[in-house]
Amino acid sequence: MVQSEGQLVVLSGPSGVGKSTLLRRLLNDFSALIPSISATTRPPRDGEAPGVDYHFLPPQEFENKRNAGEFIECCQVYGREYWYGTLEGEVTPRLTHGKWVILEIDVEGTLSILARYPQAVTIFVEPSDPAHLEERLRGRGTETLEAIERRLEVAHRELRQSGHYRHRVVNDSVDTALANIKTILLEAGFSNDPTTASA
Ligand code: ADP
Ligand code: 5GP
Repeated sequence: MVQSEGQLVVLSGPSGVGKSTLLRRLLNDFSALIPSISATTRPPRDGEAPGVDYHFLPPQEFENKRNAGEFIECCQVYGREYWYGTLEGEVTPRLTHGKWVILEIDVEGTLSILARYPQAVTIFVEPSDPAHLEERLRGRGTETLEAIERRLEVAHRELRQSGHYRHRVVNDSVDTALANIKTILLEAGFSNDPTTASA
């Protein structure tokens, strides 16, 4: 059996653009793609499960892991409110075994990842109109108005940084955006076939 090489995929975009929605659908369709579960000090939202959506850590535990060098990147997102980070243990063993690993992280985290893995396939999801972000965040109903304001401020900064990414995908229709992301991965060499995708 030919073992294909592992690869990192980075999915980013402003809060509310639809990253989690697209990722959920992508993982459902491409079962060989492995999500990296990030660690965060943010409290879980209703419906979020520890070890599935995030590793939810108390601030002290996050700091201990940071000091121990367990993160390949980490940063404070949204006005220094919460820490988010990618644990080395979520990524390196999978890459070593030839897996494709997908990270859903912010722009700052992406720049750290690119410094270490310049071949990473980077995808920025953007709205056709920035006004959609506020509508979607309000519609999702998981943040306070103040938190939505903060996320929108960061979003406008992030939208100006999309040039750091190799690929950009507009999420107007989820189906179209999903199809575009799948095409990007397949063209980059991803195979969802378990006989050719790494075991
Ligand atoms: P993110 O993970 O980028 O913060 P979510 O995936 O949570 O965004 O999406 C934010 C909200 O927008 C959710 O309520 C989701 O159902 C909705 N949404 C996602 N994609 C679209 C789309 N293309 N059109 C309309 N609403 C969308
Ligand atoms: P949320 O709180 O909505 O789940 O995520 C907030 C932001 O944090 C999103 O932009 C998301 O991409 C980013 N994020 C989630 N996990 C990580 C991570 O491990 N590292 C970095 N740098 N950003 C992350």
